[in-house]
Amino acid sequence: MVGEFDKTLKRKIDDVQRHIDFLRKLGRDNLVPYWIARKNKLCAEITIIEVVCSYCKKHIGTKDGKGVTGVSHGICDECNARLKDDQDNECFNHLDE
Ligand SMILES: [Zn+2]
Repeated sequence: MVGEFDKTLKRKIDDVQRHIDFLRKLGRDNLVPYWIARKNKLCAEITIIEVVCSYCKKHIGTKDGKGVTGVSHGICDECNARLKDDQDNECFNHLDE
């Protein structure tokens, strides 16, 4: 779904962040860099695919790339409405014939 990231990965990152907060609260700051490195590694795994409209190339949103980056195509609301209108008009044209 557009705009949603891999929830498992997101949850793992949240867990590590909670761990970092916990260690800081305990005053175990010497352990924090290890967990920050771990968190950064997880964050680097988040990949985003950009979704653009196939018709007008407008940026529609982003979605979880699940390990790959790139561009995906969809259709924006305006083009969707326009296409629907065209189709409706086409129906009317046939009626006129
Ligand atoms: Zn469009």
